Amino acid sequence: MQLSRGMLKVLAATSASNQDERQAHDHFAEMNAKLTRSVSVYLVLVAACGRPSIPASSRTETQPATQTAVAPVRIPNATIAYYDITGSSADELRTQLDRFGPIGYDGYKGDATTRWFIRWNWPGYGESSCDLNQATVSYEIEVILPRWSPPDNAQPDLVTQWTAYLHALIEHEKGHVEYVVDRHSTVLDAIKNATCETADEAAARALQAIRQHDIEYDAATDHGKNQGARFP
Ligand SMILES: [Zn+2]
Repeated sequence: MQLSRGMLKVLAATSASNQDERQAHDHFAEMNAKLTRSVSVYLVLVAACGRPSIPASSRTETQPATQTAVAPVRIPNATIAYYDITGSSADELRTQLDRFGPIGYDGYKGDATTRWFIRWNWPGYGESSCDLNQATVSYEIEVILPRWSPPDNAQPDLVTQWTAYLHALIEHEKGHVEYVVDRHSTVLDAIKNATCETADEAAARALQAIRQHDIEYDAATDHGKNQGARFP
């Protein structure tokens, strides 16, 4: 995926205007829609964390255009994006998972991934005089999952196996989601315990600690495989 001019502008700016915010927002919505698998997108989003947050009222939930009859997955506090795969045998499905599966922030190409970013802002952001007590922190989380609509000739056993696998995959991704939800307030704590000069760096450190959990969780679970997220 190519970075839009709008996002680059936001990254370069020390304080974003309302227009910049809209561009950043549009860019993120576009990212959701395209199901981009670029590692750099995640890094860009993290790098953009210091930008003023988007008002919740201006957000739109972006859903892929290819919704089918398959029951939509719900994970609290996260949006779900899908990549569609086809096939009527386990081998065909595995081939498609390998081909279309997303690449995570760490470069790991798996069957699913959770992308998240945390933003922070405060009055006087980027200035030597600021009000950290009024700092705000928000997050956005997106889970990318495979979606398979079993064809008429699919064996019932295969459908059963797929359903169990998908359930385990979702449970694994939930582990990523819930940690971010539980711990994003540590970023706010770090900001409030810092100074106008050090708050940005303190926030980034707190974010990195959350990121570290992703790494350890994936190592402990072998990216969910130890939790049953293995197909076939
Ligand atoms: Zn994982």
